[in-house]
Amino acid sequence: MPTLIRNISVPRSLLADPDRFGGQIEGDLQRGDLLISEDRVIGMTGTPPAEARVADGKGRILLPGLVEPHLHLDKAFTLPRLPDVGGDLLAAIRAQEADKKNWTDDDLRARAGRALAELVSAGVVHARTHVDWGNGADPTATPRAWGVLAELAQDWADRIRLELSCLPDIDAFAEPATAARIAADVGRVGGTLGAWCLNHPRRASGFAAAFDLAASRGFALDFHVDEGQGAELDGLETLAAAALRSGFEGPVLCGHAVSLTNLAGDRLARLTEDLARARISLCALPTTNLYLQSRGAGTPDRRGITRLAEAAARGVTPCLGTDNVQDAFYPLGRHDPLLTLATAVPALHLDPPFGAHLPLITHLAARATGVEAGFVDRARPAHLFLAEAVSLPELVSAQPARRPLFQGPGAVA
Ligand SMILES: [Zn+2]
Repeated sequence: MPTLIRNISVPRSLLADPDRFGGQIEGDLQRGDLLISEDRVIGMTGTPPAEARVADGKGRILLPGLVEPHLHLDKAFTLPRLPDVGGDLLAAIRAQEADKKNWTDDDLRARAGRALAELVSAGVVHARTHVDWGNGADPTATPRAWGVLAELAQDWADRIRLELSCLPDIDAFAEPATAARIAADVGRVGGTLGAWCLNHPRRASGFAAAFDLAASRGFALDFHVDEGQGAELDGLETLAAAALRSGFEGPVLCGHAVSLTNLAGDRLARLTEDLARARISLCALPTTNLYLQSRGAGTPDRRGITRLAEAAARGVTPCLGTDNVQDAFYPLGRHDPLLTLATAVPALHLDPPFGAHLPLITHLAARATGVEAGFVDRARPAHLFLAEAVSLPELVSAQPARRPLFQGPGAVA
């Protein structure tokens, strides 16, 4: 039976076709009475059929399922037992490495399960988690967390799509036998081929091999690149060159790219144009970058966040990721893209009206990860969420409860 929800608001930026959706424009919202059939969102136009159920939206905001492109569920919530947190990226890697002896199946399940519960209550329908590679002495071995998280992804599949991305260092792909082993693990779980690169000596051949593997196996790619501010870092240039040489059609997502803050003028323009031509999307990760970058003796004087605006202006698809939550890399946080957006507002100078930035955690994040999601008028009704807010400043500031529109406690209909 169709449902008419009176007095509801939809951010205009989250409509694929706002001019055909109907309703009244109020700032960056579209308000009106919304008609939804069993399987699709019809819009705020036309006369509702006589048999339609009627509900009251009370002016609240309707959202599509959110998309979270960059997480680390294997590390989440380890903070309480880490004895030595603080310092830069390499200090965080060491602190986290020392904790891995505690990563039993039960421990991983409990922590990642808590993260998944947070994602579901935040209205996230698609999330990608990276998984640290290696087991103890062998940095190229399949980690225990890979299997545990793959099982959890299946357990939660009716509530959220959780995608796994492997995270060895980029040199691992320069070894054909190692690369083939990792690709087999990724293929087994329908995952994404990923790696991290921070001045690794075999980065050029590693990136080239990753593109070859992705093209032949149909994988998406996702790299942590240049999570640092050293002037010598050239991972992003190396990645762009490998992508352009390969002709790979994507999706390719690049996280961090902190080194872009070192560039300006022609060099910045050239590199961001190359990223756009190579169809490499860019994910800014404000929490972890603000916490770990610009570490020195005193107060930080650089932000360490990639040049998202300049890249987007050249045609690169931008998005935001939550990254680490309550671990050695970031000691605070919650798995909620709206909280990440709220952090990005001062970090990246995302000025109001906020409707302009919601795509960073919805359809742009979906495009960057190669999935279809993020528009209200294209969503399945089961993937629509009602937020307890009547304006976008309230939505982003308070990150209020979000409930599925059509099921569970508090649902409208
Ligand atoms: Zn990360």
